[in-house]
Amino acid sequence: MNSTNAFSNFTTDIKYALDATTIIAITDCKGEIIYVNDKFCTISKYTREELIGQDHRILNSGHHHKQFFHTMYKTILKGIVWTGEIKNKSKDGTYYWVHTTIVPFLDKHGKPYQYISIRTDITDRKATEENLKNTLKVLANTNKELADIKHALDASSILAITDNKGIITYVNDTFCEISKYSREELIGRSHSILNSSYHQPSFFKDMWKKIGKGNIWKGEVKNVTKDGKEYWVDTTIVPFLNDKGKPYQYVAIRKDISDRKKVEEMILRSEKLALIGELAAGVAHEIRNPLTSLRGYTEFLKDETIEEEKQQYFDILLDEIERIDFIVDEFMLLAKPKILKFNQKNLISILNHTITFLKTEAKYKRVVITTDFNSDEIIVECDENQLKQVFLNLVKNAIEAMPTGGNLYIRVRQNKKTVSIDFQDEGVGIPKEKLQHLGEPFYSTKEYGNGLGLMVCFKIIHDHKGTIFVDSEVNHGTTFTITIPNL
Ligand code: ADP
Ligand code: MG
Repeated sequence: MNSTNAFSNFTTDIKYALDATTIIAITDCKGEIIYVNDKFCTISKYTREELIGQDHRILNSGHHHKQFFHTMYKTILKGIVWTGEIKNKSKDGTYYWVHTTIVPFLDKHGKPYQYISIRTDITDRKATEENLKNTLKVLANTNKELADIKHALDASSILAITDNKGIITYVNDTFCEISKYSREELIGRSHSILNSSYHQPSFFKDMWKKIGKGNIWKGEVKNVTKDGKEYWVDTTIVPFLNDKGKPYQYVAIRKDISDRKKVEEMILRSEKLALIGELAAGVAHEIRNPLTSLRGYTEFLKDETIEEEKQQYFDILLDEIERIDFIVDEFMLLAKPKILKFNQKNLISILNHTITFLKTEAKYKRVVITTDFNSDEIIVECDENQLKQVFLNLVKNAIEAMPTGGNLYIRVRQNKKTVSIDFQDEGVGIPKEKLQHLGEPFYSTKEYGNGLGLMVCFKIIHDHKGTIFVDSEVNHGTTFTITIPNL
C-alpha cells in the first residue's frame, strides 16, 4: 500500500466515522443546502430531497433571538469558525437541540465559498438541564413559601428556638412583647426564666422526655412576665433532628390563651358562686324557722318582764332579729332564678334595701353612705332583682375605690320622662384613657377583680331602656349616673 492510498483510506475512514456519529450539512456561500448526511435527515425528519436547495431557516424553532443568528452569520462570513447550541424544529413539529460547529471554507481571495456544519444531538442533555432549572425554580419557590410561612408564623405566634440543651437562641418580637424581656435578656438563657411555679416539676420533666426522643409536645403552660404578671400560652414544641435522629434544636410555637383561661376560670368561679347562692337560699330557709320562734319567745319575755331596764335589752334583741330576718329575705330573693320579670316597683325602696344590705360592709371599710332621695316613692317598670344587682355593683365599686374610707353620696332626681340616680364617691377616680374600657368584659384594675360587674350593669340598664354615664377625676372621685324611664 502506497502512502497516497493510505491517506485516501484514512480520510474515508474519518468520513465514515463522522457520518455515523454526527449530523453533517454543507451549504454554499448563500447558505443554500447542497449536502446532508443520513443522520441529518433522521433527526430533522425531512428527506434529502426536501432539504437540498433550502436554507437552514426550514429548521427554525423560533426559540432564538434574531441577534443570535445575526452574530453567527457575521462570524462565519468573516471566515471564522462558529460554535453554539441551537434549538431546531423537525418536520413533525418536535424540537431538538444540536451542538453546532460551522466551518467556513475560503477561496483564494479569503471569501467563504461553502460552509460545513457539524452537529451533535444534545436534546437529552438540554432536557436534563431544563429539569435542573425547573427543580431550582421549584426549590426557590419552596424557599419563598417557607419564608412566607415563617413570616406568617412570626406575625401571629410567639416564636422561640432553643438548642438541644434548652438554651434560647432565637426569639421573635411577639415573644419579647408578651414576656416583657428584651431579646438580649432572653438569648442564652433557658425557659425557666419564665417559670411561674404553677406546674409540678414532673410536668416539664415529661415534656423534656418527649421532645428529647424527637416527638412533638403540645400543652398549656402558665408563664410569668419580667414584671411578675402571669399569662397562659398554648405551646407546641417541634424537635429538629440531625442525621442520627437526635434533636439539635427545638422550635417552640406559642399562642396567648390568657383570655380563654380567664373565661374558663370565671365559669368555674361563677358556677361555684351559683352553688353557694343555692346553698345560701337553703340555709336562709333553715334560719327562718328558729328565727320565728326566737322572735316569738323574745316578744313573750318582753311582755312578761316588768323591770324597766330589762325592757330595752329586749328591744335591742328584737331589732337584731329583724335585721337577720331582712338579710335572710334578701339572700332568698337574690338566689332566686334569674328570669327577667318586669313589674312596677318603688325605686326608692329597692335602693334602701340595697343600702341596708351593704351597710355592714361599708361601715367596716369606713365608707359613709349619705342618701338624698327627695321622695319616698318613685315607681318604675323594672326587674327588681336586676336593678338591685346594678346598685350592689356600683356601691361595691365605690367602696373598693376608697381603700382608706370616704363618702358615698346616692342622689335620686326625677325628670319629666326619666329618673336619674347618682352614685358619687371620693375614690381614686378613673384616668381618661381607661374610661373607654369600662364595661368591657374582664377589664379590671383590681388584683382580685373579675371585670364583669360593670358589663352586667350596662346590660341590665340597656334592658331597662336606660343609660349609664361616668364622670371621673383622678384622685377626686367618680360619679356613675343611671337614667331609666319614669312611669
Ligand atoms: P371589678 O370591680 O371586678 O374590677 P367592674 O366591671 O365592676 O370589675 O369594674 C371594672 C373596673 O372599672 C374596675 O377594676 C375599676 O378600675 C373601674 N371602676 C369601676 N368603678 C369605679 C369607681 N367607682 N372608681 C374608680 N374606678 C372604678
Ligand atoms: Mg366591681
